[in-house]
Amino acid sequence: MTTVLSGKVLAAQIKKDTAERVQALTARGVQVGLAIVTATDDEASAWYVRSITKAAAAVGIAGRVEELGVTATESDIRSMLVKLGDDPGVHGIILQTPLPDGVRSERVSVAIAPEKDVDGANPESFGRLATGLRAFAPATAQAVVELLDHHGIDLHGKHAVVVGRSTVVGKPLAHLLLDRHSTVTIAHSRTHGLAEVTSRGDVVVAAVGRARLITADHIGPVAVVVDVGTNPTPEGGLVGDVDPGVTGKAAALSPVPGGVGPVTTALLLRHTVDVAERGGRAAVGS
Ligand code: NAP
Repeated sequence: MTTVLSGKVLAAQIKKDTAERVQALTARGVQVGLAIVTATDDEASAWYVRSITKAAAAVGIAGRVEELGVTATESDIRSMLVKLGDDPGVHGIILQTPLPDGVRSERVSVAIAPEKDVDGANPESFGRLATGLRAFAPATAQAVVELLDHHGIDLHGKHAVVVGRSTVVGKPLAHLLLDRHSTVTIAHSRTHGLAEVTSRGDVVVAAVGRARLITADHIGPVAVVVDVGTNPTPEGGLVGDVDPGVTGKAAALSPVPGGVGPVTTALLLRHTVDVAERGGRAAVGS
């Protein structure tokens, strides 16, 4: 029997709590605002941005999208991020990927005000996270840990294997898991014998972006498997990085869609309210 690690109930709980906090702020005359900066014509990205602004509206947060277009330069993107950082009506800032060719994400994300960096994209946030200082973690990485907590999965002393080493998911997640006293292995495209490495994990997290890469041969019989992957299908659907054949072998598996994704969105909203409650500034203490 494989337990389904659904994220829907947790996401609904986070959104309900967030909506109540937004209401309290509104009563004090504070309109909570979330800005998303885009510089792409990628359809999947546009869909994701629409889903965040819709979720924001549902909890009373004013979502605003700054579309800079595919010709935007690093300077254009940085200027917009600085402007939003100075705007008291904006509490959270998200820089949407992909970015235009030639634009290096780390050279623009440094312009996200750290105190409004609700998706942990500024390298300063990553550095703080890695050194144990207060910072927002990238929402997807945090969603994995909160999903496991929600389902009562103890991480203490467990061997967690994270497949993927991006700065958005794999690396920050490794730090979050270390903070929870897991023993962490990070695998990637150059890892030899991936199936052998992942089979040793009590917890296996797939954050790769390759549909159905992780099969039943990659996991041990008591493994808890979290699927972060969101791979579009030709039919317009979405599949994860984990093959459905894992069901029946793993102890638990998160679905795609309906696992990590909804929790990620809910956490972006919660982080935005965290900033607003702090008055928009002084968010990152030690
Ligand atoms: P990414 O930046 O492309 O990183 C992918 C990672 O997977 C890289 O570290 C890469 O290794 C590794 N990799 C690629 N092929 C591999 C293979 N055959 N075996 C082992 N490792 C391999 O992707 P990302 O931004 O981290 O996103 C990963 C997935 O998560 C994507 O499907 C994305 O859409 C999804 N995602 C979901 C959410 C959500 O909220 N649910 C949010 C963000 C991302 P190298 O470093 O060696 O190249």
